[in-house]
Amino acid sequence: RLSLEQSIGTRAFKYLHPDDAKLATRAFIDLARTPGASVRDLVRVVTDDGEVRDLEIVLTNCLDNHDVAGIILNGRDITEERALAEQLSRQALHDPLTGLANRVLFEDRLEKAHARAVLRGGVGAVFMLDLDDFKGINDVHGHLVGDQLLLAITDRLQQALSPSDTLGRFGGDEFLCLVEDLTSPGEVAAIAKRLLDVFAEPFVVSGVQVEQHVSIGIVVWDGSREDPDEITRDADVALYEAKRQGKGRFAIFTRTMHQEAVSRFALVQDLHVALQCGELSMHYQPIMHLLTNQVVGFEALMRWQHPGRGWVPPSVFIPLAEQSGLILELDAFALREAVGAAASWRPTEPHGVPPFVTVNLSAHQFREPKMVSMIEDVLMTSGLEPRRLVIEITEGVLLRDASEATNVITRLQERGVSFALDDFGTGYSSLSYLAELHPRVIKIDQSFVRPSTPSPRSDALLETIITLGDKLEITMLAEGIETAAQLQRLRLLGCELGQGYFYSPAVSSDQLTALLARTSQEWEHQLISSVTFP
Ligand code: C2E
Ligand code: MG
Ligand code: MG
Repeated sequence: RLSLEQSIGTRAFKYLHPDDAKLATRAFIDLARTPGASVRDLVRVVTDDGEVRDLEIVLTNCLDNHDVAGIILNGRDITEERALAEQLSRQALHDPLTGLANRVLFEDRLEKAHARAVLRGGVGAVFMLDLDDFKGINDVHGHLVGDQLLLAITDRLQQALSPSDTLGRFGGDEFLCLVEDLTSPGEVAAIAKRLLDVFAEPFVVSGVQVEQHVSIGIVVWDGSREDPDEITRDADVALYEAKRQGKGRFAIFTRTMHQEAVSRFALVQDLHVALQCGELSMHYQPIMHLLTNQVVGFEALMRWQHPGRGWVPPSVFIPLAEQSGLILELDAFALREAVGAAASWRPTEPHGVPPFVTVNLSAHQFREPKMVSMIEDVLMTSGLEPRRLVIEITEGVLLRDASEATNVITRLQERGVSFALDDFGTGYSSLSYLAELHPRVIKIDQSFVRPSTPSPRSDALLETIITLGDKLEITMLAEGIETAAQLQRLRLLGCELGQGYFYSPAVSSDQLTALLARTSQEWEHQLISSVTFP
């Protein structure tokens, strides 16, 4: 500190930091020439023990004031205040976990890089990296391991890049890097390859070995680009494309991609309208008892009749709805419609039970706390017995949100609702969940029922899956039965239920009445007549 006693009688200039002395002297001389004037400035001073401190000073020229006849200097020590401000601005610009540039700083650097390219020419690139299925790591190993993994990745990425490149993290599992002054077109792919290679070897964090892959979206830009603030947006579009082509790869942004992104965006807008204007409807595909040829249930499948494009398949609009958050409303609609319809179905045989209805719910539903009460409401309003509602979930749901999903599923099971595991065999192995959750039905994916190249191996797989269901006392349902031969094989293997074009595609509610009226003899007749003899 500058102590009062020690400084009395000394010259203020003695304390000035040598680097600030010149400017401060100049300002002092200027001020001394203008009576009544005052200046405010920041200077560094050196204390007697050699410590450098920041001082905010106000100098007031009172030379023409009789009582003072001098220059008054007011100083305030702001060293701590400045340190705090610096720390705050660091925090405002950096990601707290990795210390990398955050979105604000990254976009500022990008804007400056673009401005340089406008002035001097040169080509730059932005690489947007998104860790594939990172949420699964957090769920399986916990957030601590997740954070350690992000740090390990940061480390490797920094080594793969040059110090002049900017590496940033946009929260979660998204990293960005900005590379300036590319020298050849081949360099972009070379850098992308280097970034992908960062993930080739597994990471070992907290004693756990984790495989982590990454998808990369790339935008190459130069000074001719008019909208630098849209570069990261385009990187996102390219990233979407990289993921769509299969994960663990990179894609470079093109104008066509932009067109596609725009048309996806338009389709999402249309989907909002579709919900409001009744363009969506539920169709129902019969689920058959394979030995008795009775309709035991129906799978509710959504259909969209677009006024301009005609029929849009769910494989197109369901993923869009999932990305845009619209899926919650879509699935609520499906539940209301399907459960409402099922409530009016009568048994197909005298003394039989009415068919059940299965409804597909997206993984997103299992993160919705209101989901349980929503299903309860729908059941109550319709009067459908809970056991006639089967909810279809895919294996992915279980992997991504294991604990949350288990919780929701158990609560619904307690209320009498059943579950079916959809597309079984295509996702991650979730055999451990099977024991824990005991779904009522396993739906064997079409790829086993209808293999693209049938072989003894694919046959053995089908048989093994059916045996597994037997052992666990879970009803097995084969999806996508298209031929009499496939049906025959499933009957022999003891698969209980099935659905497929061989019986019927999904039909509208109007056509459903006719299907329900059919007796099992009539179904069998259809089957026999469809068998062609060589
Ligand atoms: P999924 O749940 O596995 O549904 C089975 C799909 O296979 C349906 O396609 C069905 O029409 C088709 N299919 C049935 N039998 C055969 C057959 O013998 N051969 C062939 N080639 N295909 C057959 P769809 O209706 O196009 O639905 C596709 C996917 O979209 C569904 O797969 C499901 O994951 C999703 N989806 C459909 N409706 C809804 C819904 O209301 N909500 C949600 N979240 N997803 C839905
Ligand atoms: Mg399904
Ligand atoms: Mg399926």
